[in-house]
Amino acid sequence: MKHFAALIIILLIGCKPAVEAPAPTAGKPRVAVVNYPLAFFVERIAGDLVEMHFPAMDGDPAFWKPSAAEVRAFQSADLILLNGASYAKWTAWASLADSKTVNTSAAFRDAFIAVKAEAAHQHGKGGEHSHAGTAFTTWLDFNQAQQQAASVHRALARLLPAHSEMLANNFAALQRDLVSLDADLRGIAADLGDTPLLGSHPVYQYLARGYGLNIRSVHWEPDAMPDAAGWAELTALRKTHPAKVMLWEAAPNETIVAKLKARGIRSVMFAPCANRPGSTDWLAMMRANVAALRLAAGID
Ligand SMILES: [Zn+2]
Repeated sequence: MKHFAALIIILLIGCKPAVEAPAPTAGKPRVAVVNYPLAFFVERIAGDLVEMHFPAMDGDPAFWKPSAAEVRAFQSADLILLNGASYAKWTAWASLADSKTVNTSAAFRDAFIAVKAEAAHQHGKGGEHSHAGTAFTTWLDFNQAQQQAASVHRALARLLPAHSEMLANNFAALQRDLVSLDADLRGIAADLGDTPLLGSHPVYQYLARGYGLNIRSVHWEPDAMPDAAGWAELTALRKTHPAKVMLWEAAPNETIVAKLKARGIRSVMFAPCANRPGSTDWLAMMRANVAALRLAAGID
């Protein structure tokens, strides 16, 4: 009997094809996301169980304009995760099947922040756009990020019922990280109190509300020296809002940093991280944001 079992094993091994089958991505459900925070949540919760579809997007994914083929790649996914809050406006006109589309911010849609009308402005390669409508960097309030992660988890659990325990464990670990980010930021916000802060771009609405931070924003880009009108706007704003710190989405140009420094303003990077960063991940970026703000909070 023992020999018979050994023979079976040898036969089974012998059956293995000489050429390895292609990676079994064909069997994995495809999950499409509109920004990197959602991609990160999917990666943390489902890991290799799904095939991610988050194509390279020039500029801010919020203003991405997909081609017809790029829209079809989303439509053909098994699960489509949206940020909501008017993020990725193309998803409003493209026909995405309700049955497989999830708006991850639906739980707090009554708490979206309306942005007043303002002039359109340029965003690098993305062309002109306006922030008027709804503020969309929902995840910079880490409590809202937790709700979005919970929504991602529910959707993945429906998609992968056989893996519910693993998904639940991974989700719990992610939530612990988000809770800890939230707690750290709350502590820093308590130290900052009413200290006036500047945003270089109108993307910090939920951060400001979530943590009671006193942020007012201009419309600057990290790689473009503001014109005379831009500097005049800043001077006027500081008459009523005497901030010494400006938050940036990305590391600003050195000449801008120097010019701000000459005016007594320190540049601090607080990156929304809407796009996949080169060498790090969303959580590390958020921890770096929080650490940078902690440093800035030490400034009197
Ligand atoms: Zn903008």
